Amino acid sequence: MAIKRLLIANRGEIALRIHRAAHEMGIETVAVHSTADADAMHVRLANQAVCIGPPAAKDSYLNVAAIISAAEITGADAIHPGYGFLSENAKFAEIVEAHGLIWIGPKPEHIRTMGDKIEAKRTAGALGLPLVPGSDGAVSDIEEAKAIAEAAGYPVIIKAASGGGGRGMKVCTGPEQLETLIQQAGSEAKAAFGDATVYIEKYLGNPRHIEFQIFGDGNGNAIHLGERDCSLQRRHQKVLEEAPSPVISAEERDRMGGVVAKAMADMGYRGAGTIEFLWENGEFYFIEMNTRLQVEHPVTEAITGVDLVREQIRIADGKPLSVKQDEIEFKGHAIECRINAEDPFTFAPSPGLVKSYHAAGGMHVRVDSGLYAGYKIPPYYDSMIAKLIVYGRTREGCIMRLKRALEEMVIDGVKTSIPLHQRLLNDPTFLDGGYTIKYLEEWLAKDA
Ligand code: ADP
Repeated sequence: MAIKRLLIANRGEIALRIHRAAHEMGIETVAVHSTADADAMHVRLANQAVCIGPPAAKDSYLNVAAIISAAEITGADAIHPGYGFLSENAKFAEIVEAHGLIWIGPKPEHIRTMGDKIEAKRTAGALGLPLVPGSDGAVSDIEEAKAIAEAAGYPVIIKAASGGGGRGMKVCTGPEQLETLIQQAGSEAKAAFGDATVYIEKYLGNPRHIEFQIFGDGNGNAIHLGERDCSLQRRHQKVLEEAPSPVISAEERDRMGGVVAKAMADMGYRGAGTIEFLWENGEFYFIEMNTRLQVEHPVTEAITGVDLVREQIRIADGKPLSVKQDEIEFKGHAIECRINAEDPFTFAPSPGLVKSYHAAGGMHVRVDSGLYAGYKIPPYYDSMIAKLIVYGRTREGCIMRLKRALEEMVIDGVKTSIPLHQRLLNDPTFLDGGYTIKYLEEWLAKDA
């Protein structure tokens, strides 16, 4: 069942990333795009392109009927959803399969389970992953909620079962606030996600965000590709990611990686996935699983040499994992800077015409971007316009190379977050690796 023609149901740098992997495998590509993206790089490079609707994502990149029609018209035999948009939509995965197309992603039932935070936590717990202490499922009764919060210890965090993107969470510091905050969280969740279900977790004061990349073949075999440290965040959006984490030893990586890989094997998981943990005082606490490729996957590729998109396509095509756990070597250090079209101080979006563009180059420098001189960044989508990924034998070497590469980047005509990265790369706390998930926002506030 070899895939011959792949439809890429996404846009921007990730559409290009998937196109590149496909062409290296001898697979033709079909781009789909909104009217706002008619001149996008992924549209230009793909073998075929189909316009699927107007600029608003709900009418184009989320338009299931238009995407399926595009696959049928162009004779595509597989769909890769990228990240965001329809990538974690179990219903879409089922529709793709029901049309006889290959879904390049996990089994729909696993997408569904992991998309519900309570189900995800229950499943992770049953598979032996360490959890944040808290309620064993939804809380509705206030007395029960008080007992749970008391047992976990204040402060606690009230989270929406259907939440996402860092929304639908409330921190509660004592029992007197609990009832009001649960009600507030519930009604906000109902308004935002159509589901008022909330649960309670112990609030960790100052953790790091550390996630493991895993791959399963769907038949009970799974591997891990180490961790990424994504603690540098602003408003729950990752800004800079690195692999390996500056605080995880090789022994700890092997141990925890073994735990997650076994969990995924036991689950019969298929394809790429990321298990996200908060990490504090040497302990891992599962928070969620992403059943898709992540934005920051290239740092893992840099230190393992494994092409994660190629691996996704192979597995979807029914092939075995291309590497065994003991063949994976973690070598050197990689850092990714997310370059956004935004003001580096106010963070206001800055779409518009890119007058000139020059990508950094040289040894161990990778730029994933659909930019070119004369391209107009549309205002309708995510502001991330490029990822700069740099590898070095050591963390220090990687940082030196990253500084050099940032100096070389030219994106004229719009404001970008390049100056923010340049400042961050000179910060002593970043340099010594001792940052947590609160660090970037505190640093920005101090700097302002
Ligand atoms: P989402 O799906 O909205 O991204 P997550 O469960 O992944 O939600 O949590 C998002 C972020 O919220 C985490 O990266 C962390 O910063 C914070 N957070 C979530 N749970 C806790 C907790 N128990 N203690 C402290 N911070 C938390």
